[in-house]
Amino acid sequence: MKYVLVTGGVVSGLGKGVTASSIGVVLKACGLRVTSIKIDPYLNTDAGTMSPFEHGEVFVLDDGGEVDLDLGNYERFLDVRLTKNNNITTGKIYQSVLEKERKGDYLGKTVQVASVVPHITDAIKNWIESVAVIPVDGKEGPADVCVIELGGTVGDIESMPFIEALRQLSFSVGPDNFCLIHVSLIPVLGVVGEQKTKPTQHSVRELRALGLTPHLLACRSAQPLLENTKEKLSQFCHVPIGNILNIHDVPNIWHVPLLLRNQNAHHSILKQLNLLSIAAPPNLQ
Ligand code: ADP
Repeated sequence: MKYVLVTGGVVSGLGKGVTASSIGVVLKACGLRVTSIKIDPYLNTDAGTMSPFEHGEVFVLDDGGEVDLDLGNYERFLDVRLTKNNNITTGKIYQSVLEKERKGDYLGKTVQVASVVPHITDAIKNWIESVAVIPVDGKEGPADVCVIELGGTVGDIESMPFIEALRQLSFSVGPDNFCLIHVSLIPVLGVVGEQKTKPTQHSVRELRALGLTPHLLACRSAQPLLENTKEKLSQFCHVPIGNILNIHDVPNIWHVPLLLRNQNAHHSILKQLNLLSIAAPPNLQ
């Protein structure tokens, strides 16, 4: 199994969900089978009891799972049928670990998040690995690529166990099977009118301090990135300039897969995942 992890930096509501689904569309257009997992680091077990005014619409899956609307984007963009297990929350992870603890499954050990015996991070890793291989496109056998979206912003307290579990996952599956795409914001200061890279530099630094190195940057901005903005990002974020993607505001989110295809995002991702030899050129209308 190959994993594409999408993280977000600087602010929430950046468009991680749209970016992650669009990446799935482009990979699917290259002839690959794609599944997805959405991680929501909040403590709620699912989105069913959350106010739509605060959190947006609740999306109901075929199996009755009440989840974040991003899963609706995945189903529509990728033409797949997801299950409630494709949505991981802190609530679900703790619930499963605590149920095991009550049954005595840990044999008297101290139950911990990520210490000597990393019960929580192990539970996250096992959950991801077991859900990733379940087919969601009506065909037999596991998909080629699993796109994982980590909700929230890198550095949030809630997302720390997930970042640590994903770091361990990236190490255990090896570099050819793991591609990290960091979605970040490039603001423009009104007075100076300059595209600012510092917030992105800081969030990449934060990610690297936690042991994860982005292979691609997906930059959200009002206008397309200038060449010197890309050069700066490349130099200070340690990402090749060809792997810096520009996802500026578009009138319709269905344009985002085309935006990615036009920048050859698929080439950078497939190269990182060592899939160039088996993938076809993207067939997107
Ligand atoms: P996140 O997953 O980071 O919270 P979402 O993917 O839910 O963010 O997107 C937040 C909002 O931004 C949505 O309303 C979405 O339609 C919009 N959006 C995302 N990407 C773009 C884009 N490139 N251009 C215009 N709007 C976008």
